[in-house]
Amino acid sequence: MEVIFLGTGTSHGIPVIGCDCPVCTSSDPKNNRTRCSVYVRAEGARIIIDMTPEFRIQMLREKLSTADAVLITHTHADHLHGLDDIRPMTFRRPMPVYGSTRVIGIIRRRFDYIFNVTQMGGGKPHIQLNPVEGPFYIPTVYGKLEVVPVPMLHGKLETFGYRIGDFAYLTDCSYIPKASMHLLNGLKVLVLDALKYKDHPTHLTVDKAIAVAQKIGAERTYFTHMCHDIDHAKLLSELPDGIEPAYDGLRITL
Ligand SMILES: [Zn+2]
Ligand SMILES: [Zn+2]
Ligand SMILES: [Zn+2]
Repeated sequence: MEVIFLGTGTSHGIPVIGCDCPVCTSSDPKNNRTRCSVYVRAEGARIIIDMTPEFRIQMLREKLSTADAVLITHTHADHLHGLDDIRPMTFRRPMPVYGSTRVIGIIRRRFDYIFNVTQMGGGKPHIQLNPVEGPFYIPTVYGKLEVVPVPMLHGKLETFGYRIGDFAYLTDCSYIPKASMHLLNGLKVLVLDALKYKDHPTHLTVDKAIAVAQKIGAERTYFTHMCHDIDHAKLLSELPDGIEPAYDGLRITL
């Protein structure tokens, strides 16, 4: 199994337009963060979690050409608004997109032009929407791959994390309910939201993320969705063993 970090930045991306703070002007490429997404290869399936506004740039940068399925965590713009750029991968067959029933309903409304019948020849992606509320299977060349949604709270909004085998991706959360913690036993790799140092109403902060990571107890934890308060090298030097900040283009195998 391989996980490629397409993006690791918070909603506005780093650098932030017009900001001259030390992180936004840093020469360390690891402080350059596009919006949050991962590409996962598992049991012959290629899965993208979230479709950021930089999706096209991320795929070209990592020399990735296609995928078999897309999982959506929630419908905030930074996680969804690149959806149209899936188009070149859907010339031959529709792309299956999975999300909660609520998320799928919002996608249908927000991208209504994709799902309305219009004249032929218009450039529209072909998307097959799949509402899911519990574990589901993605067809693969070898059979099928189980994906387990992990319900979380992002402020008051419910988001899904996703578990695939020994890997879990939990972005955009401020609280993980007890029932969901039970879905996270025995992980090799955990990716977790860690927005900034100071308190925030809808995201885990560095201290809270460390506490949650230690409670979940994955072999390795990577922080993501980081804002411009976080300098990569500084945070790396501060974190306990087994926890580190991710960066755009980081590839891990498990
Ligand atoms: Zn976000
Ligand atoms: Zn800045
Ligand atoms: Zn969000």
